[in-house]
Amino acid sequence: MGESKQMYINGEWVSAESGEFLQIINPATGESVGSVSFGDGREAKKAIDAAHEAFGTWSRLTARERSKYLYNLSELVKSHRDELAGLISAEMGKPLGEAKGEVLGAADNFVWYAEEAKRVYGETIPSSVANKRIMVLRQPVGVVGAITPWNFPVNMVARKIAPALAAGCTVVLKPAESTPLSAIRLFELIEQAGFPKGVVNLVIGKPEAIGDEFINNPKLSKIGFTGSTRVGKLLMEGAAKQVKRVSMELGGHAPFIVFADADLDEAVKGLFESKFRNSGQMCICTNRLYVHADVADAFTEKLVERLKKAKVGDGRQKETEIGPLVNERALNKVLEHIEDAKGKGGQVVFGGARMTEGDYAKGFYCEPTVITDVTDEMKISYEETFGPVVPIVRFTDEAEVVKQANDTRYGLAAYVYTRDNSRCFRMAELLEYGIVGINDGSPTQTQAPFGGFKESGIGREGGHFGMDEYLETKFVSFGL
Ligand code: NAD
Repeated sequence: MGESKQMYINGEWVSAESGEFLQIINPATGESVGSVSFGDGREAKKAIDAAHEAFGTWSRLTARERSKYLYNLSELVKSHRDELAGLISAEMGKPLGEAKGEVLGAADNFVWYAEEAKRVYGETIPSSVANKRIMVLRQPVGVVGAITPWNFPVNMVARKIAPALAAGCTVVLKPAESTPLSAIRLFELIEQAGFPKGVVNLVIGKPEAIGDEFINNPKLSKIGFTGSTRVGKLLMEGAAKQVKRVSMELGGHAPFIVFADADLDEAVKGLFESKFRNSGQMCICTNRLYVHADVADAFTEKLVERLKKAKVGDGRQKETEIGPLVNERALNKVLEHIEDAKGKGGQVVFGGARMTEGDYAKGFYCEPTVITDVTDEMKISYEETFGPVVPIVRFTDEAEVVKQANDTRYGLAAYVYTRDNSRCFRMAELLEYGIVGINDGSPTQTQAPFGGFKESGIGREGGHFGMDEYLETKFVSFGL
């Protein structure tokens, strides 16, 4: 692969017709970690043509044959864990340990869907008419345009392309602008795994132009998107013109509820995972913490003690627990949310500022922050902060806190800590969220459904639910 040939179309490494390049910046140091060829709709069109051409053959391979490629890829991803993790960390700042976990998660997706490819079962249904028979087939939807964000630059790709390829679809992937290097390395492994040309394609470039081609090109049947609710809505509107299939994994605003009977040490541990992993830049990150008034002081104290010990730094250093934010814009948004809360009566009891001492000055670091006396009017209460900030609200009544927790346009993840069994069940049923962690601050697993209610999205990734998104259902009626 030459320096400028970084898109993978129809089994060839190619560069952008535009001749443009994009610099990739390490958010821990502000330094360049490389540049990539930056394309547009022209490359998207070529990639869609290639995927369309390849679909005829790929979709007609046996499931067992398709799964062999996915097994190969899973092994390659596992054996390149450290290299991929290093790239993730350099591109977007994630601590190495988390990045390695992400890469293993991607390998797990490839192997899980290699197995699931063999279980795409149809049905026969008893007919009401004696001389007719009913058969139901599940068939791949066609060419998929996948668009992924920067916060999980390898696993978000895996979660889309693994089920799509297993189902018999072919794919054009557009990764996020800030994290194309790990996607390029993953595609080198895809090439090494031996996938036939045109089956999986990589296009890097202008989001709007590539998105428009995905929307308007009739050879592309489905758009799979993970990113902000704003862009998800634009793509849904566009896709409606040709009634294209869509799956949307969008923004979140997760409540985390700590009842008075909770194990507070476990709750602090769970909150740390759900809030500070990826520096608070996950769609399932806690955004609002509701703590029962009887334990609010004790909980806040324990949380602050934990944060005092948290090591913030360059993700590539072994001891780092919390890395930088992905770029200056992201950092400024977090700081703006903190200032807005302070201006409306919020009390910053820990952190609250950009970190500027020594090496921190070069990167985009925000102190882990805890704010109390938070009210509904503060931006932090209704907008996704996407940073290491915990806003604390006290509550006393269970019904009231459920109402507050559900009072948002989002519905991705919610967390509850309690030792009361019947309350566990009540919360699981009453919270209007696609994912509910009960005494669990880290609920994601390959085989479980992942996705949101309300404006957090449509469709599910993960497990057999994820496979359904790439399959059409066909009814065949046989007259005898
Ligand atoms: P984003 O919406 O800005 O970008 C996501 C992707 O969409 C990127 O690849 C970007 O280049 C592309 N894009 C942007 N404008 C486009 C357009 N007009 N047409 C086509 N593509 C376009 O989001 P982001 O800042 O990269 O990611 C953070 C967001 O993603 C947060 O809101 C987060 O909650 C959400 N997210 C959701 C999930 C989930 O599973 N629900 C997972 C991770 C992130």
